[in-house]
Amino acid sequence: MKLYNTASKKLEEFKPLGDVVKIYTCGPTVYSFPHIGNYAAYTYWDLLVRTLKANGYKVKRVLNLTDVGHLVSDGDEGEDKLEKGAAREGKTPFEIADYYINVYLNNYKAMEFLPADVLARATDYIEEDKQAVDLMTQNGFAYETEDGVYFDTSKFADYAKFAHLDLAGLQAGARVGFSSEKLSASDFAVWKFIKPGEKHAMRWDYLGRPGYPGWHLECSTIIHETLGEPIDIHTGGIDHVPVHHTNEIAQTYAAYGHELAKYWLHCDFITIDGQKISKSLGNVYTLEDLVERGFDPMDYKMWLLSGHYQGTRNFTFRSLEAARNRRANWRARVSECYLHDEGKESGNFDAILAAVSNNLNAAEACALIDNSELTFSDWKKINDLFGLRLIEDTPNLPDEAYNLIREREAAREAKDYAKSDELRDLLLKQGIIVKDTSNGTVWSYL
Ligand code: AMP
Ligand code: ZN
Repeated sequence: MKLYNTASKKLEEFKPLGDVVKIYTCGPTVYSFPHIGNYAAYTYWDLLVRTLKANGYKVKRVLNLTDVGHLVSDGDEGEDKLEKGAAREGKTPFEIADYYINVYLNNYKAMEFLPADVLARATDYIEEDKQAVDLMTQNGFAYETEDGVYFDTSKFADYAKFAHLDLAGLQAGARVGFSSEKLSASDFAVWKFIKPGEKHAMRWDYLGRPGYPGWHLECSTIIHETLGEPIDIHTGGIDHVPVHHTNEIAQTYAAYGHELAKYWLHCDFITIDGQKISKSLGNVYTLEDLVERGFDPMDYKMWLLSGHYQGTRNFTFRSLEAARNRRANWRARVSECYLHDEGKESGNFDAILAAVSNNLNAAEACALIDNSELTFSDWKKINDLFGLRLIEDTPNLPDEAYNLIREREAAREAKDYAKSDELRDLLLKQGIIVKDTSNGTVWSYL
């Protein structure tokens, strides 16, 4: 398998560290309905896990759920997103987290994502967060201020390396008074104190004061606790590179003395009608919005898989319709294959797997699927590789109907069209529509 590693900026042959490939994915902040762009990363990382499995690897995958500490900016300013959601909906931040975790998990099922081996809630790791801050401080990488505990980026020589940051420029551009006692503009909070009178329902005592962890900390802590660093593959969105992932790497080194991950994969952003997804443009579509317009979540997954995870992708409803048609065509082919299943493989699946194994080139794999002769056994493998409900949404026929279709095919071959029409009508009465295609008979339920 080959993967494009953001750390080296190269396409690299994947070499696992051990018997089980350890993968970590930065998960959602659970404070509002996700928009369709948010599913891009999870679709591509689901494909990554499925591709590793298809190549014979065992995988352990951890996904975190950010239910505390993520401020409106990626830095250390602005409101906590969970507190913001709570104020908006008149609930506690804990209720907000529970509600949106449920929304996410239901939608993950609707998108046919393989469940993560560990689903880690940030608030379940607060004690471990405190221990990590202790370690960073003891090791000389963190310092306490009135405002919180900050990571001293000047102590980590490689801080700028991962994202090729211009630290001097960042320092020069820093706003005056931007944080109380930060030593340098790139320093970031690993723990924030809650000021007297400040409203913040999520709070834990540490260093003699109430506070909460900085957003970046949970990923370092959860990886340490659930997988152990270094892990094989760390995934996230392209926006995570300069701040969130840069900070994760620094924290893990400072607390535990280890490299965090060998391979880093980042997916680009989805635009809608050529524009950024944003509330002010009124183009924040959710998965539920697509369903309301008559699409299946699988149509959207098909759309995502028809492209590459790297490079901005532009969503339009017209292109979503094209994806729906492609999936309908594939399902029709599945139903046709099922009728003629002899339990054999065509040998054409290998090229499809090879395409996906080359840096998750799903677009090329889709083109191969469109143009290859495939048997039912091949489709089962494709269905496992993509998780598109191609077989589940094309249920098997009862034997009696199956025999009628066979009989009808024989009648057509014998050019007995009267009998073939009669059998078609009989099938229709049983709720089964048959169509004749260049590949043979295709059926579906009414
Ligand atoms: P969060 O706000 O923490 O739930 O995470 C949202 C994540 O979704 C971001 O960090 C991005 O990586 C990803 N994301 C947001 N907008 C888009 C988009 N338009 N296309 C693809 N990914 C997105
Ligand atoms: Zn993370």
